[in-house]
Amino acid sequence: MPANIIDGKAIAAEIREQVKQAVIKRTEHGMAAPGLAVILVGESPASQVYVRKKREACAEAGVLSKAFDLPDNTSESDLLNLIKQLNDDNEIDGILVQLPLPEHIDSTTVLEAIHPDKDVDGFHPYNIGRLAQRMPSLRPCTPHGVIHMLDSIGEKYKGRHAVIVGASNIVGRPMGLELLLAGATVTTCHRFTDDLAAHVARADILVVAVGKPGIVKGEWVKPGATVIDVGINRTAEGKLTGDVDFEAAAEKAAFITPVPGGVGPMTVAMLLRNTLQAADNHNSNS
Ligand code: NAP
Repeated sequence: MPANIIDGKAIAAEIREQVKQAVIKRTEHGMAAPGLAVILVGESPASQVYVRKKREACAEAGVLSKAFDLPDNTSESDLLNLIKQLNDDNEIDGILVQLPLPEHIDSTTVLEAIHPDKDVDGFHPYNIGRLAQRMPSLRPCTPHGVIHMLDSIGEKYKGRHAVIVGASNIVGRPMGLELLLAGATVTTCHRFTDDLAAHVARADILVVAVGKPGIVKGEWVKPGATVIDVGINRTAEGKLTGDVDFEAAAEKAAFITPVPGGVGPMTVAMLLRNTLQAADNHNSNS
């Protein structure tokens, strides 16, 4: 029987509506709307699309987004100075630096310069460390969005084997921490993993975040598994596709996410949620 589709668009719309209502409540209580600084360096068309979507989502939810579109030749020190100003700016609750940065800028230095309380992407080592130590604060948007999707289908985690394919700092690694926190038994696969098929075949929950279309074959999927495809790839014909062989995987899985319309919309929704959380924390600490 073909799998049930997990509709990321619909779940994300619910979260965005919750944020919108919470922002209305804040302003009714005389508090400022949350403020998000969105920094884009350079003119990568893909980054421009992602940033536009984030700004549109902010506007719709009543979050004030402030645009910092910087030229490709911006120096690292100028970018760090801007982040320092934004760290000190009381009207800004969250700071987002769109990745990737141009090669002459060290993204680790830049991400570590963002104050952890304003780190709405959840990439700062402080926030990753809190997640690792079971005290999450601002959580990385994509993995946290995946947890919301799994919660939406009643996933119980405990006693279940989660396999993650991909181990990047922004998706695979924090995804492992999230699933461990939720109570699953976690295996993380990466480019040096032997026999990926055997690992995938043992997954009750499979999360794939590599960036290689078709890296996970449908026939590897365990019958009844939940398959979350984080990958976003563009085909030669300009179509978006994930990392999992969707048609064949959907024949074996109980639940599966589509690409597009799966994890992607969740990432933006969780960014709004983090910005609201950062603003609420800011108000309760001041
Ligand atoms: P990334 O930084 O390039 O990381 C890819 C990961 O895949 C690395 O950990 C790499 O291993 C691993 N890998 C490479 N080849 C492999 C193989 N043959 N077998 C197993 N693992 C392998 O990419 P990313 O930023 O995590 O993004 C991954 C994908 O998710 C991309 O398509 C990206 O566009 C998409 N994405 C989607 C969203 C969303 O909102 N839906 C958000 C973020 C990213 P090593 O660590 O050993 O190099």
